[in-house]
Amino acid sequence: MAFEGVIIVTGAARGIGFALARDLSADGWPIAMVDLSLDVLEKARGDLPAEADVRCYAANVADWDQVQAAVKAIQADYPVVHGLVNNAGITKDGLLVRMSPESWQAVLDVNLTGTFFFTRSVAPIMMRQRMGRIVSISSVIGLIGNAGQANYAASKAGIVAMTKSVARELGGRGVTCNTVAPGFIETDMTASLPEQVRADMLQRIPLKRMGQVEDLSGAVRFLLSPDATYITGQTLVVDGGMVM
Ligand code: NAD
Repeated sequence: MAFEGVIIVTGAARGIGFALARDLSADGWPIAMVDLSLDVLEKARGDLPAEADVRCYAANVADWDQVQAAVKAIQADYPVVHGLVNNAGITKDGLLVRMSPESWQAVLDVNLTGTFFFTRSVAPIMMRQRMGRIVSISSVIGLIGNAGQANYAASKAGIVAMTKSVARELGGRGVTCNTVAPGFIETDMTASLPEQVRADMLQRIPLKRMGQVEDLSGAVRFLLSPDATYITGQTLVVDGGMVM
C-alpha cells in the first residue's frame, strides 16, 4: 500500500535511522533519507529494495543553510510532507570536570540545535497542510542523566522540553509532536562501550537484553500513524523497562 506524503528521517545512513527508513518504507511510505554524506547514504539506499520510493539528501543537521536547502529539495520532490523523524545524534562522552567546551557544544549543536533546525524548516509546510507528524529521538539519558554524559543528557532533555513547546504551538494546525526515548540499543553508538558498562546496563533492564534497532520501529510507526492522531507532546520510552 502506498501512502501520501513523504517521511523525512535524519541520520538515516545507519543504525536506528536506517532501520526506521527501511521499516517505514516497507510499510509503503515514501522516505527522504538525510545524513552527512551522499556517498554513505547511497550505499545504505543500495540495501533497500530498488523499487522502494526512497531518496537521499545530504545535510549536516547542525547547519541551518544546509537544512533549509535539504528541506527545499525534499519538498520539490515530494510536495506533501507527512512526517519528520529527528534521529541524527552523536555522543562525545566525558566526565564533567574533563569535558571540553568543544565536546559540550558539538553534542548540543547536532542533537538539540539540529532537531530545532529541521523542525523549524518543516513546521511551516506542515502548518500550511494542516497535517503533520514530528517524532524526535531523545534518550532515557535525557530523563535520568548519566555520569559522563552531561552534554548528551542536556541535549536529549532539551528535545523533550522543545517537543512539548512545539506540540502546544502546532496542535491547532493538526500537527503533532512527540518524542521516543530509547534505552540501550545495539548500534555503532553503543558498540564501543566497555564490557563492564554493558554488563551493568543489562542488570538494570527487566527484559534482560539490549534493544535492537527494530525494537524502535513500532513506537515510531505508531506515532506516525492514524492511531496516534490524538497524542501530542508525549515521550514514549522504549527501553525494556530500564526507566520506570
Ligand atoms: P549511530 O551513530 O549508529 O547513527 C547516527 C547517524 O546520524 C549516522 O548515520 C550519522 O552519520 C548521522 N549523523 C551524525 N551527525 C549528523 C549530522 N550532524 N547531520 C546529519 N547526520 C548526522 O547512532 P544510533 O545509535 O543509530 O542513534 C540514533 C539516534 O538514537 C541518536 O539520536 C541517538 O542519540 C539516539 N539514541 C540511541 C541509543 C542507542 O543505544 N543506540 C539510545 C538512545 C538514543
